[in-house]
Amino acid sequence: MPRKLLDLSLSHAAGMQIALLLLPVRDRFLWSFPDRRDSHEERYDMEGLLKGKIAVVTGGTRGIGYAIVKKYLEAGASVVLCGSREATAKEALARVRSELPGAEVDAIWPDLTDTGSVFSAFSKVAEKYGRIDILANNAGISQRTSLYDYTEKEFDDILSLNVKAVFNCAQAAARIMKGKGGAIVNTSSVVSLYGQPSGCGYPASKFAVNGLTKSLARELAKDGIRVNAVAPGVIRTDMVAKLPEEMIKPIVDNIPIGRMGEPEDIANAYVFLSSDYASYITGAILSVDGGVII
Ligand code: NAD
Repeated sequence: MPRKLLDLSLSHAAGMQIALLLLPVRDRFLWSFPDRRDSHEERYDMEGLLKGKIAVVTGGTRGIGYAIVKKYLEAGASVVLCGSREATAKEALARVRSELPGAEVDAIWPDLTDTGSVFSAFSKVAEKYGRIDILANNAGISQRTSLYDYTEKEFDDILSLNVKAVFNCAQAAARIMKGKGGAIVNTSSVVSLYGQPSGCGYPASKFAVNGLTKSLARELAKDGIRVNAVAPGVIRTDMVAKLPEEMIKPIVDNIPIGRMGEPEDIANAYVFLSSDYASYITGAILSVDGGVII
C-alpha cells in the first residue's frame, strides 16, 4: 500500500465536502478572495527575523520542509536539513545552495525513528554550530488504508515516523536547548482536528502530535523552550500536481479562501512561530488551511 500524503486523498476531499455543507452561506463568498501568490516576495520580507539562529528541519528535502528550509534561510537562520537518505539529503542541499547562493545550510540523514541516531546527529550539529535554537519537526508520511485492510506494520510505520520521531527529535533538541531557550514547531494537520474516513493511523498520529505539542509546551516553558504546531490544510505538492483537474476542483471549491495552500504558506507560519515575534505563544496548534477549520 503506498505511503503517500493522506491529506490529498479523495476521502479527504469527501470530508471537506461535508465540512462545506456545514458552512454558512455567507462564508462561501470568501471564495472571491484574490489570489495574491504572485506578490509573495513583496508582501513577506522576512529578512533578519531569524538572524543568527541555528535551525534543524526534518523532512527538509522536499515539499513543506524544503519551503521551511528556504524561508528560514531567507529570514537569516543557519539551517541543517534532515533527509531520510544520504542521496536525497545531498540533492536537496545542492538545490538550496544553487537557489540561495551563500546561504549557510548543511544536511544530515539520521534515522529519525531511532533515538540514538537522532541524538548523535543533533549533538554533532550542536558541536559544529554551538547550539540549536529552532527545531522544525516536519517529516511525516500518510496512509489511506481502510481499517479492514490495515496491517500491523503499516500502523507501526506511521506511528514510528509521525509520533516517535517527533518525540525523539524534540527530546534531542530540548536537551541541547535547555538553559539557552529555543522554539520547537511540529507539523500537525487539519485532520488532527476532525479525523478522516480512511487511513485512521494518519489522523491518530497527528492527534498525538497535538498532544505532544501541548504537553511539551507545558513541560518546557520553564526552560525557555516554546512548543507549537502548524496544522496545514491541503497543500500543493508533487502528488497534487499530478492529480486531474476534476479531482482537484471539488477540494479547492471547499476552501473558503478559494485556493489550495502552497508550501510557502506553511513555511511563513513556521518562520513566525520560530521567531521572537511569537515569544508569548506556546502550546498553540495554528491552522494554516485557507479557512477549512473556522
Ligand atoms: P512530502 O512527502 O513532500 O515530504 C515529506 C518529507 O518527510 C520528505 O522530506 C521526506 O524525506 C520526509 N520523510 C518521509 N519519510 C521519512 C523517513 N522515514 N525518515 C525521515 N524523513 C522522512 O510531504 P509534505 O507535504 O511536505 O509533508 C510534510 C509534513 O506536512 C508531513 O508531516 C505531513 O503529514 C504534513 N502535512 C502535509 C499536508 C499536505 O497537504 N501536503 C497537509 C497536512 C499535513
